[in-house]
Amino acid sequence: TVPVITIDGPAGAGKGTIACLLAQKLGWHMLDSGAIYRVAALAALQRKLDLQDETTLAAMIPILKIEFRDGEAWLDGEVVTGEIRNENCASATSKIAALPAVRAALLELQRSFQQSPGLVADGRDMGTVVFPGANHKFYLTASAEIRAERRLKQLSEQGLSAKLCDLIQDINARDERDASRPVAPLKPADDAVLIDTSSLDRGEVFAVVLRHIA
Ligand code: C5P
Repeated sequence: TVPVITIDGPAGAGKGTIACLLAQKLGWHMLDSGAIYRVAALAALQRKLDLQDETTLAAMIPILKIEFRDGEAWLDGEVVTGEIRNENCASATSKIAALPAVRAALLELQRSFQQSPGLVADGRDMGTVVFPGANHKFYLTASAEIRAERRLKQLSEQGLSAKLCDLIQDINARDERDASRPVAPLKPADDAVLIDTSSLDRGEVFAVVLRHIA
């Protein structure tokens, strides 16, 4: 079977960067599962669906054409890379991600990324739910303050500004929501390697990951 490495953890812990570096180094495919949830949420917003109507939301998912190619995210043939990153879509995403039927409807699509020669999967429940048999599992964390500082830096690179204390509050609220939901709550798999990235730069985190898979 095709090998899988999972990288889970809260927003801002550096999962995306490490997953990218690793996929590049190994020449493997990469799954950004958060982007899949975001595209599904955007589709729900476009259709003006009730974000609590679990049955209707889950029924919508199989008819969507969600693709990642040419460095872009696509929904039904349209590029949505920028749109899925806005605050409105992010907030809709965490709402629909809390619904068990929505998560179940997205399982097959996520698993279809497991293709030769291998897959690096980035998300919240890659090691616990989607790929429980993964060859290696990592769980990245960092303090809320550090994650907020990283987010602030990202925003300022995009010419946007924010208050650090607001960002810390947002991050704590999102962590609380992701950890307390009844399905696929944010927690490390029993067999995951935990890495606290608070005092490490990306090169140091990557070195730890490489040492474990060597
Ligand atoms: O990783 P990203 O910040 O893009 O994920 C957006 C949201 O999607 C998360 O806050 C979480 O609620 C949800 N998500 C999830 N399970 C995943 C990936 C993302 O519930 N595997």
